[in-house]
Amino acid sequence: MSSSRIFRAPGRVNLIGEHTDYNLGFVLPVALNLATEVVTEPSPDGNLHIFSEHRQERQSFDLAGLATAQPRKHWTDYPVGVARELLALGFHLAPLQLTIRSQVPEGAGLSSSAALEVATALALLQGRALPPLEIARLCQRAESQFVGLPCGIMDQYVSVFGRQNSALCLDCRTLEADFVELPAGAAIIAVNSMVKHQLGDSAYRTRVAECAQAATALGVASLRDANLDALGNANMADKPRHRAWHILTENDRVLRFVAAARAGDLNEMGALLVESHASMKADYEITCPEIDFLVEAASEIPGCYGARMTGGGFGGCTVNLVDPASVADFQTSLSNAYRHAFALVPAFYLCQPGDGAREITKPAAGV
Ligand code: ADP
Ligand code: MG
Repeated sequence: MSSSRIFRAPGRVNLIGEHTDYNLGFVLPVALNLATEVVTEPSPDGNLHIFSEHRQERQSFDLAGLATAQPRKHWTDYPVGVARELLALGFHLAPLQLTIRSQVPEGAGLSSSAALEVATALALLQGRALPPLEIARLCQRAESQFVGLPCGIMDQYVSVFGRQNSALCLDCRTLEADFVELPAGAAIIAVNSMVKHQLGDSAYRTRVAECAQAATALGVASLRDANLDALGNANMADKPRHRAWHILTENDRVLRFVAAARAGDLNEMGALLVESHASMKADYEITCPEIDFLVEAASEIPGCYGARMTGGGFGGCTVNLVDPASVADFQTSLSNAYRHAFALVPAFYLCQPGDGAREITKPAAGV
């Protein structure tokens, strides 16, 4: 029997609820049919070897030094951060060769980072049990504490807990989630703008800080405990006020979107996507001209119920709700318009909500 094993974790598209996760609010992501796989084989020499097919780069680590490894601002910070978290939980790590292969575009807002973290965690665990919520949490810690991006838990949570045909309405305070079946009459299309402005990570940190500032001014532990009346009466600077306005109205939009999805009201779902985008553009200020163009152009195409940016911001993808019969025309029209405006060819992903992370090793023939 082959000693190689394969572990798979999906990327995600967030339908609505942007930047609400680290404010302990609501989000509504779906796990994607695009995923990252980590193939494991025994190491020839007692070290941990990590190879990224996408990067065509191999890096090797002495297992004894991993617990004290420092971040290097390199892609290996993600798997190394996960390894350190497992060591901190008391797991012994076997020497392995990891081969990473991924269908999730990097840095496009579809969470290649969480897919890599979660697939790596399963790969390093080699089948040993750890509650799924602990896996999501340790991967979030790896990204926020080791990689250094103060992210919420949405991406890791949905990569672990995703379910076919469903979105997952997660309460980021209680970490409880409801599965929301999506109405059959709409396809979810992610459109990759093919741009990612440098500003992204530093602006993300600034938004986290501005939300904390707003929460302090409101006298609450997180914006989840605030409301629009209190915000209206509070004394604070303009920027934190606008950021808090986005978060509070966005939490409300997530809940309205879930109700609309359950009622099969595609027009309302589309309108909420458009509202969410307007709020990210005007109040949270995380969009960019290419993304604004894709959203506005999409909203005018027949058969598109609505669109908005998805992911951290400043580029990446939009998410679009489209009548299944109109998908081909939608792609052609949007691609032509975007090429004409920005001389860029967008990529389209037809998103099929899929299952969360698991081992997919096939039994050897004859077993
Ligand atoms: P997103 O999660 O939206 O794709 P991030 O900036 O959070 O964007 O994560 C992207 C980073 O994750 C990449 O820059 C790289 O460091 C790492 N990464 C993701 N997938 C891979 C892969 N297949 N091989 C190597 N590094 C990867
Ligand atoms: Mg990410």
